[in-house]
Amino acid sequence: MPNIALFGPPGAGKGTQSQKLIQTYQYTAIALGDLLREQVSQQTALGQQINSYISMGKLVPDTLAISIVEAQVIAKKHSNRLLFDGFPRTVRQATALETMLASHQMTIDGVLFLDVPEAELVQRIQGRAKMGGRTDDQDTAKVATRMRIYADETLPVAQYYAQQGKLLKIDGTGLVEQVTKRIFAAVDKLSCADL
Ligand code: AMP
Repeated sequence: MPNIALFGPPGAGKGTQSQKLIQTYQYTAIALGDLLREQVSQQTALGQQINSYISMGKLVPDTLAISIVEAQVIAKKHSNRLLFDGFPRTVRQATALETMLASHQMTIDGVLFLDVPEAELVQRIQGRAKMGGRTDDQDTAKVATRMRIYADETLPVAQYYAQQGKLLKIDGTGLVEQVTKRIFAAVDKLSCADL
């Protein structure tokens, strides 16, 4: 099975779709956002530091993001299908991921880019905020910060993978099940190319 990354703006549905991939293809997921929120809930000194970034809608520093993911890769490298959710989010993270995977004779085979127009993203995040849950969804100014950081720092990652021929754009609009179908079709195609 191909190793893949789910890529896209805040609110694109990465978390939701990653659950579908785990259920159907038994992917082993590395979801940095979840790991960071776990640290925050444990109220450790590191958790407090992490919370100061997340609650402002900012990315945690690359060095921290990379070291957490590296520990996960080492722990999970024997799984033959890894799914990265929300990582890499900067070009520096992307190059670090390539190096760390290469040192274990692994690579990212495809990056699924969930494409959703900004107006719909804002609506989805507002809907998620009403359901309670994530603190970083609650404040419009912080959501705007996340969108700006996405455009400035994360979008260049798409270009990085497009240059390697690994970027697969998926229409992320419509019903969850419709998007899931498109994603599964892309993964099936990647798996065939893998054989
Ligand atoms: P997510 O659950 O993927 O939306 O991530 C929630 C928050 O965790 C983000 O807004 C960032 O503050 C932080 N975060 C998640 N992934 C990364 C990453 N790859 N690099 C830096 N910060 C991240």
